[in-house]
Amino acid sequence: MKTPYDKECPYFFGDYYRGRNHEECRLIEASGDSKQWTSKLCKNCPVPSIVQANACSNMVLEGRIGKIVLGFGKHMQINAYCKKTNKKVKEPHIGCGECHPLPEIFLEDK
Ligand code: SF4
Repeated sequence: MKTPYDKECPYFFGDYYRGRNHEECRLIEASGDSKQWTSKLCKNCPVPSIVQANACSNMVLEGRIGKIVLGFGKHMQINAYCKKTNKKVKEPHIGCGECHPLPEIFLEDK
């Protein structure tokens, strides 16, 4: 479903039927931060671009609400995990390189 910022996100749900205005992020539900979530956080959330760039079915995303420096403002903090290698994915837009080998430019020890 499209977020209010016109980006497709598989975790966004909005119900506007007959005057309803219910919105939720289904990624953040498991983190316990869902009460603090508002759809304003979708504006700069990296998830729509991550899922567009990397469709690997082994990558699992986790989302939390993080605070911007000095506690002013909030943003989405996204962690990615590969359930095949059981490792954190450093660059979720690219993937961990297990299923789809990374080009040399992305490897640390060239
Ligand atoms: S906060 Fe991010 S993951 Fe959650 S619904 Fe909005 S764009 Fe999707």
